[in-house]
Amino acid sequence: MNNRILVQILRRLKIFLGSRTPPAMVKIGQKADPFRILVGCLLSSRTRDEVTESACARLFRRVKSPRTLLKLSTRQLEREIYPVAFYRNKARVLKTLCSDLGDRFNGEVPETLEDLLTLKGVGRKTANLTLILAFDGMGICVDTHVHRITNRWGYVETATPDQTEAALRGKLPARYWRSFNEWLVGFGQTCCKPMSPLCSECPVEKYCPRIGVDRHR
Ligand code: SF4
Repeated sequence: MNNRILVQILRRLKIFLGSRTPPAMVKIGQKADPFRILVGCLLSSRTRDEVTESACARLFRRVKSPRTLLKLSTRQLEREIYPVAFYRNKARVLKTLCSDLGDRFNGEVPETLEDLLTLKGVGRKTANLTLILAFDGMGICVDTHVHRITNRWGYVETATPDQTEAALRGKLPARYWRSFNEWLVGFGQTCCKPMSPLCSECPVEKYCPRIGVDRHR
């Protein structure tokens, strides 16, 4: 698939998504500081949007900074973020992350992708999303939706999300980088689902070669 077709697809997706509720992290990012955005990104991994939103609301009533988070015990932190996926592991990651922020960045969230990636527990998806939402930076956040859908379209041919990010950095026009994740997450949650996508209702069906799709509706 070339960029001329991709632009057609993205135009249609924008109309299709219209006034749908944006993903949880976009909503959180509209009114939060970099620390809350970074923590929210970590909590959102493999967790439903409504669970992420309520866990963030609960946690941020008590926690305003890395320093205040470190005052909570791991058990207290687990209770605040429950029932996000892997809440026990995420509570430990948050403690380590906040120590790291205090030790190396004076309690502030760093503003570059390179520095974000040095933080303990922060992978490429979280680093890119934080860069985009907190600092209006140039990143491409590749999660499971972006990886799956761009491969179904044949826009990339990759085996992992990291490979997809590298491929997108090489060919996706820069003006789409920051919005790409938001659009594809919305599309992936409602239409191009992981199992049995709704191809009969898909606004971009005529452009899609459905690579790797065995079953659809
Ligand atoms: S046609 Fe099916 S596989 Fe292709 S983008 Fe649409 S929903 Fe996804």
